[in-house]
Amino acid sequence: MRSKEEIAAYQKAWYERNKEEIAAKSKAYREAHKEEKAARDKAYREANKEKCKAYKKAWREANKEEIAAYNKAYREVHKEEAVAYGKAYREANKEEIAAYTKAYREANLEKYKATKKAYREANKEEIAAYHKAWREENREELLKKYKVWYEENREHSLASSKAWREANKEEAAAYKKAYRQTERGKEVHRVASRKRRAIKRNVNENFSKEDEGEVLNKFNHQCFNCGMTAEDHKAKWNESIHMDHLYPLSEGNALTQNNAIVLCKLCNSSKGTKNPSEFFSIEQLHELKDKGLL
Ligand SMILES: [Zn+2]
Repeated sequence: MRSKEEIAAYQKAWYERNKEEIAAKSKAYREAHKEEKAARDKAYREANKEKCKAYKKAWREANKEEIAAYNKAYREVHKEEAVAYGKAYREANKEEIAAYTKAYREANLEKYKATKKAYREANKEEIAAYHKAWREENREELLKKYKVWYEENREHSLASSKAWREANKEEAAAYKKAYRQTERGKEVHRVASRKRRAIKRNVNENFSKEDEGEVLNKFNHQCFNCGMTAEDHKAKWNESIHMDHLYPLSEGNALTQNNAIVLCKLCNSSKGTKNPSEFFSIEQLHELKDKGLL
């Protein structure tokens, strides 16, 4: 009697001797029955869909890294085709993609907004720099557009800026101050001062310390418009309360006792070059007349 081991060794030796023949026969058999096998496999897969799916999934998970590496290598070799394919696909499906993106955004509005916000916050400086560069590059065009818009909306924009300035006096003053520190603001200021000095020379303005004292007394050392006292003004702005033209210098009116008014910094800047009737209320105009000024 032969032992189990002897039988196994004999079989193995037989197999080794006939290996090639066996392989060729199997191959021929498989070739001859290819279609039956494919049909059988297909039927099996259809009858066992869930099982196949689970099997595939398990396989993919067990071979995650190899698959990723394989895909990566594949993409690298086929980079250009992939780019071209993506481009062609996007072009052929432009509308569907736009509709899908829109629907997705709408369905995930909060999430979308949060993502955008987070992005903006994380890239604040780059975004600001980008916008600034863009504005500078398109400066001329923007100015033209703004000018057209401004002319079309002149009345409305003047009224709304005025309303805003009045409702946000301090912010407006801070904004103006910041603007004056910029190169453009400085230049605008220089031009305006030059113009003002030229006009003053022309109208031969000489307003003495005594004149100033008289006017301050006449207005009780208070802003004629809002009532702020000279003391509060000094404390708040660290400068003397303003003495300015009732009828504007820009129209050739010199500062004299009969054309001087006391205004705080803010009221003075909002009066600007307006005539009294354009700035003051009827009551205030009457009061000015009582002071012998109109
Ligand atoms: Zn005032």
